[in-house]
Amino acid sequence: MVEVEQTPVLTDNYVHVVHDPETGATAAVDPAVAPPVFDVLDRRGWQLSHILCTHHHGDHVGGVMDLKQASGATVVGALADAHRILGIDIEVKDGDHVAIGRHTVRVLSVPGHTAGHVAYFFREAQVLFPGDCLFSLGCGRVFEGTAEQMWRSLCKLRALPDDTRVYPAHEYTNANADFALTIDPENAALHARADEVLALREAGRSSLPSTMASEKAANPFLRADDPVLQAAAGLDGPDAAAVFAEIRRRKDCF
Ligand code: ZN
Ligand code: FE
Repeated sequence: MVEVEQTPVLTDNYVHVVHDPETGATAAVDPAVAPPVFDVLDRRGWQLSHILCTHHHGDHVGGVMDLKQASGATVVGALADAHRILGIDIEVKDGDHVAIGRHTVRVLSVPGHTAGHVAYFFREAQVLFPGDCLFSLGCGRVFEGTAEQMWRSLCKLRALPDDTRVYPAHEYTNANADFALTIDPENAALHARADEVLALREAGRSSLPSTMASEKAANPFLRADDPVLQAAAGLDGPDAAAVFAEIRRRKDCF
């Protein structure tokens, strides 16, 4: 297993610090800012060994250089983004594996939000950091890719085990639930998740992690190829990517 410390930063970002108690290996995922990560390391008595970057946006990499300089941690990021993420030591591509302590982290290339976006899957612990590709009940905006690419990326994540704990980089779940209910108003799993998230947020707690099973049942962006979802949204057709594109378009102007 791994321990995951989740810290809210900026407006709605999370930085995750992942710790392997057996070896002491510790990774910060998408450190938007450095000071809250130093606080976690101090409080827990952990030493940073790795920094994992999902994509080049400032709200994900802003703290990388300060953390690297202070700790000597190894920075992992996409080869495709090596020109725009400072400090990368290990340049990764789809299917690569990175060892963090005794854990194996699989790199999945998930373009769409950005061209070089990657997700990190801790294989033995079944923990996923999808960055801004997959959110709970939502997905990232398509900035640098096509809707079809984003759909394929989400399908790749959807293929991970149902028990996978999913730690997206933003707390967007409540707003995503409001939109998802307009697409899929009869979905009982979606209603249950929306209620759960509202209660968590009202109690001042995080809505994350989610699980892949929950997202597969409730997240409309993972269900564009499901005839039930297509009928609910008034969209049908064999081309799931086109259905996905239309749901994404509606969300963009929601
Ligand atoms: Zn982003
Ligand atoms: Fe972001």
